[in-house]
Amino acid sequence: MNRTILITNDDGVHAPGILALKQSLSVLGDVVVVAPDRSRSACGHGITLHKPLRVHKVRLADGDTAYSSSGLPTDCVHIGVMQMCGRRPDLVVSGINLGANLGWELTYSGTVAGAMEGAAFGIPSFAISVTTYEDGDIYEPAARFARFIGTQLLERGLPDGIFLNVNVPAVPAEDIREVCLTRLGIRRYPGRVETRTDPMGRSYYWLGGDLPTDGLEEGTDVLAISQGKLSVTPVHLDLTAHAALGEVARWPLGDFLDKTPASA
Ligand code: MN
Repeated sequence: MNRTILITNDDGVHAPGILALKQSLSVLGDVVVVAPDRSRSACGHGITLHKPLRVHKVRLADGDTAYSSSGLPTDCVHIGVMQMCGRRPDLVVSGINLGANLGWELTYSGTVAGAMEGAAFGIPSFAISVTTYEDGDIYEPAARFARFIGTQLLERGLPDGIFLNVNVPAVPAEDIREVCLTRLGIRRYPGRVETRTDPMGRSYYWLGGDLPTDGLEEGTDVLAISQGKLSVTPVHLDLTAHAALGEVARWPLGDFLDKTPASA
């Protein structure tokens, strides 16, 4: 039976990155595109539970049909798996995002959330991003790598709850010298809030700040990308800090029940 591949993104259904991804993966099976009707970048793993989701058929720039959803990437994977694919997909892919998704910033990312949701369904999944914010003719190497890693995932699968996060340098394919298996680096944003004043004299705020330039530790995705290498990181939905369990186990957490009166 033909493979079914569900594709989403957070840059919107008409973004060039998702078109490049769809065209590249279509040789691997039947591709179903379900993506947000507008840019939803930095929406994280949000899900829409308290209002209806609308889905419309739209035509992509190459004439193929896709589903455009009023929801977030997580919603799109949910609806795609349960409805639009018509059967359980064999692979869920999110991207190709315009802009890197590295280290600690993964939790902000709608692109990564699409793959997270695929993994939550127990389906082999990956997120893929190019490491530039300048749109243009930059997707071809990432689209080719998506086909390569997608083939691997279809053959090998992944352990439950695990997906891959892929970042591809925005350079010609022949300039990518290495594919690195990495861990997530530290990406701590310095944090900047600009306070401005609206025409009514009220304050409003812009969150922002420059991209962090630290976190260049050996073996990390942040370092690999800073060196122009392609980065692949296995990510687990289990966010438990296993290394901290011993430390917190020494806290007197049980005292809450033993020593705190119920009226407190
Ligand atoms: Mn995005």
